[in-house]
Amino acid sequence: MASLFSRSSRALPYFTGATGLAAAGATYYASRRPMLLDSAQNAPKKALSMPTSMLFPKEITVTTVEQVNHDTKRITFSLPGGDSEISGVPFGAAILTAHQPTSGWLPVFRPYTPISDPDERGVLQLLVKQYPNGRASSYLHSLSPGSKLTVRGPIPAYNWAVPMSPRDIVLIAGGAGITPIYSLTKGILSNANDKTRVQLVWGVNSTRDIVLKKELDALEKQYPERLQVTYCVSGPEGKPDAPSLGDEAKYKKGYVDSAVLKEVIAKAKKEGVWGDEKGTKVFICGPPAMQEAIAGKKGLLGGEYGLVKKEIHAF
Ligand SMILES: Cc1cc2nc3c(=O)[nH]c(=O)nc-3n(C[C@H](O)[C@H](O)[C@H](O)COP(=O)(O)OP(=O)(O)OC[C@H]3O[C@@H](n4cnc5c(N)ncnc54)[C@H](O)[C@@H]3O)c2cc1C
Repeated sequence: MASLFSRSSRALPYFTGATGLAAAGATYYASRRPMLLDSAQNAPKKALSMPTSMLFPKEITVTTVEQVNHDTKRITFSLPGGDSEISGVPFGAAILTAHQPTSGWLPVFRPYTPISDPDERGVLQLLVKQYPNGRASSYLHSLSPGSKLTVRGPIPAYNWAVPMSPRDIVLIAGGAGITPIYSLTKGILSNANDKTRVQLVWGVNSTRDIVLKKELDALEKQYPERLQVTYCVSGPEGKPDAPSLGDEAKYKKGYVDSAVLKEVIAKAKKEGVWGDEKGTKVFICGPPAMQEAIAGKKGLLGGEYGLVKKEIHAF
């Protein structure tokens, strides 16, 4: 997630002047509130919508916490307005969590991408990997049912436009970078008007890092023509002399390297047009070293495939 850290700090300007803007924002929105028809009045409200909930934070409440593997928890929250609200966080977009550490003056803000759907009533779900001494991730891992969490957002995300004709894209995730990639995939596949086909490649250290497997399997089963997932396992399990990982088409040994990219790009180029309506061909979210090796200035996508900056979206 090269841009994860930079994003974290890039997100901060949204708060600068928040207090000052709050009053103006509230007045503006109150004066612009449209008249609603009866059916629209019954429609669920969005718990989070820009810019209001970026200026005025919301408190969400932990309902369940599930330890999904050695370092990752799935934390489910209820929205402040219960079932009368939906999160409203678009597919692929993140929210900003805030907490006040016991040591230190400044609050800690971090972005997290919900894995729940934008229109799910009353619920917002996060998948959080804990980093050693990670300030926000350790705080989130300390929460239990009943705990409250302050959130702002959503942070504006890639503006996905539903293409008029079938198109092919490549999505690449590294480790915990799967959440925006998974969310975007779900958004694309669940739209009946969207015919985009997705090649999703996910690099992990070990098979125990593969979270959301049940969900990804279900999506692949439901949309066999539109989603193919390839896992690249780089740790000891994925070394050439290690025992087989199973289905060789699905589980590759090593990093997301040139050979893997060649294979998925060939599939993306096979039938229709490679790239979305805006010409973005590859979406990537992973640790800095991975993003640099694949999408950086001297990365594989530019070097071997001649992709230019605007054809790659890094989260
Ligand atoms: C748009 C966006 C969406 C995100 N969505 C999610 C999500 O859904 N789930 C999730 O778990 N995380 C997500 N992240 C990452 C998250 O925002 C934090 O960066 C992460 O949880 C670490 O924060 P921390 O405060 O715990 O660690 P810090 O206190 O900032 O760092 C502690 C230590 O961990 C290391 N570290 C921190 N972050 C990373 C990293 N990403 N890769 C490698 N080492 C790291 C640091 O080098 C440091 O040594 C997202 C980031 C962005 C930009």
